[in-house]
Parts: sequence; C-alpha cells; structure tokens
Amino acid sequence: MKKQRKIYTFLLSLLLAFSLLLPGSIVPVEAAGGDMAVHFIDVGQGLAILVQSGGENLLYDGGNRSHADEVVQYLKNQEVETIDYMISSHYDEDHLGGLVKCLDNFEVDHVLGSDYVHTSDLFNTFMNTATANAITVEYPAVGDTYEFGTGSFTVMAPSGISKNSNDNSVVIRLVNGDNSFMFMGDAEETSEQDMISTGMNLDCDVLCLGHHGSASSTSWDLLEASTPSWAVVSCGKGNSYGHPTAETMGKLSDMDIPVFRTDDQGTVIAVSDGSTISWNQEPCNDYSSGDESTGSSSGSSDASTGSGVRYSGWSDSSQISDNSTETADTTDTQGAMVWISATGSKYHSIPNCGNMNPDNARQESESQALSEGYEACKKCW
Ligand SMILES: [Zn+2]
Ligand SMILES: [Zn+2]
Repeated sequence: MKKQRKIYTFLLSLLLAFSLLLPGSIVPVEAAGGDMAVHFIDVGQGLAILVQSGGENLLYDGGNRSHADEVVQYLKNQEVETIDYMISSHYDEDHLGGLVKCLDNFEVDHVLGSDYVHTSDLFNTFMNTATANAITVEYPAVGDTYEFGTGSFTVMAPSGISKNSNDNSVVIRLVNGDNSFMFMGDAEETSEQDMISTGMNLDCDVLCLGHHGSASSTSWDLLEASTPSWAVVSCGKGNSYGHPTAETMGKLSDMDIPVFRTDDQGTVIAVSDGSTISWNQEPCNDYSSGDESTGSSSGSSDASTGSGVRYSGWSDSSQISDNSTETADTTDTQGAMVWISATGSKYHSIPNCGNMNPDNARQESESQALSEGYEACKKCW
C-alpha cells in the first residue's frame, strides 16, 4: 500500500516535470519546427546571410574572398549539406567572393542572381563553377515568390539593370508567419525608389541595411516605407569606406531603431517563430559612423526595447566571431596595409589607384598580399 502510493507520487512528479517542459517554457536555440534562423555572419567588410528553416538553407551572399573559408566552416558548423537557394545579390567581391567556395563545398539546388555581366575574374570563376556543377544561374523577376522552409521570400529588386552594380542587387523580403526581413544587398537610393514605386509591401521587422550603411542607401523614403523594428549593419571594423556613415546612422537614431552591427558584435543571429523574433544578443545601439574612432566598443546604451523581445545569451559555438575579430585585430597590427583590386596582380597604397573600382578593393596586410603573389604597384607604392 505504502509502496503503491510512493509510485503514484513518483508518477505525478514525473508528469509535473514534463508539463514544465511543454512549449512556451523552452527558448529555442536552433531553428526547429516553425522557426526560421537568420545568421548575419561576420565577414568583415562584406555581407553573408545564412537562413535556416524547416531543414532548408538559404545563403544570401558569401562575403569577400578572404573570409570564404570561414563562411564555408560556419555553414558546416550549422550542419549545412545542401544550399536550397544561393542568392548572389550582385557581383562585387565583398558579396560574391565567398560564394565560389560554397559552390565547391555544398550541393546547391538553385542559384539566383542579377542579370548583368561583371568584368572581373571572380565573376567568370563564379559562372564557370556554377556551370561545372551543372547549375544554371536563374534571374528572378520582381514579384517572384519562392516557398522556403516554414515561410517564403519575394524578390523586390532589381526592376532593371543599371550601370551601377550596387543598384542591380537582388533584394528580397523574407517572410515567416508575421515576421519579415529585408535583405538589401548593396541597393542604393535609385533601386529603393524603384521598389517604392511598385507599391509592393516593404514593411519589415528587420532591415539589413543596403551597402553596409553607406550614405547612398537607406533613404528616408525607404525607412518610412519599411518601418523596421531593428536594423542590421554588416561592415568591417575600421573599414576604409567609413561605413556605416553618420548620415545613415543618424536616421536610425532619429527613428529610435535599435541597431545590430557585425563590426561591433560579430555574427548576429535572429530566430523568428512566426510571431516573435529573438536575438542571440542585445542590439549594440552604436550609432557612431565608421569614420569615428571605434576604439571604445561603444554605447551599449540601454537597449531594452520591451514588448516581448527576447535576447538570449546564446553559446558562442555557432559563431565565427572569435576567429574574425582576431583576424581584424591582427590585420590592424601587422604593419603596412595594402589595397588589392578585384582584378589585377598588384597591390596599392590607395583604394582608387588608376582604373580600379574602389568599391571592389579590399584591404589586407602587405605580407599577406606578397604571400598571395601580388606585387607592389609602381604607380602608387
Ligand atoms: Zn557593391
Ligand atoms: Zn558591398
């Protein structure tokens, strides 16, 4: 009799323990079920976003060439084997560089790109690698919608091809239940105006700022049309472009939009469960421009924005920020820094020597450039 009661009590407590584990009390760490995880991967000065949902993977840009291995490793850490959608926003090196290695390392089902030709070896390599893997690059039209995981994404731009590579960026609006994200690539104001004129719904919870927060993107009109609850800036610490600019950050500050920055915070992860978006860290709300000294890893001014927002201190296991901040640190202290153009075999003291496109130039240490076979430019070095 006594024994029976003991068993009964035991069963009851077991039941109680299980009921405490029911959904609602669990904080998701990885995308599961109706979740969609959006990883703004820290790739220094560039852009790479991994989205995982319902067992599917979407990679929007792959960062620059020097971060390609880190992006591949990051995806492998997230157990990516197949990339269902690889989206190349446009063909500038800081977006396209890492995608070539991803084509080599993963099975890729669809590649979506922008329908223009970029005169660079990287562009040719990318197209040839796609062809070698029997992949045809698809050029989606504005309004095209694709099912993805537990949600979908719609192509918002480009509506045409311009001479400005950035304005050719494939912009997408990703939706999961009531939550939405906009990935702008490097789209600038002309493309923003085109999107607004279509009358499509530009409203979003999370806006990944166009062109790393440059002054040529994120117009007032776009902010008013999209009214984001959060902004994400992907840029490199101490980048030579001064990204993000004071002008753009001032707008976000004026609109009280909490901001995440990969240069301050490393990889930033958002998880949407269809109604709420949780983040792996709090917004840094650092509205300083890339021109200002970023020495004091600045203003963690009160970031609590209330209203059902969850910021969980997730483990670092899914982040590459450790690595990349180290890279950033060492490049700062490794003596002479040089400029490498997207094409060519010389390194330069300035990002706009001769015919090189400064937007495609990247910086690295002289020793690294030499080790990669580059030679000093006779004109500027
Ligand atoms: Zn660009
Ligand atoms: Zn860019």
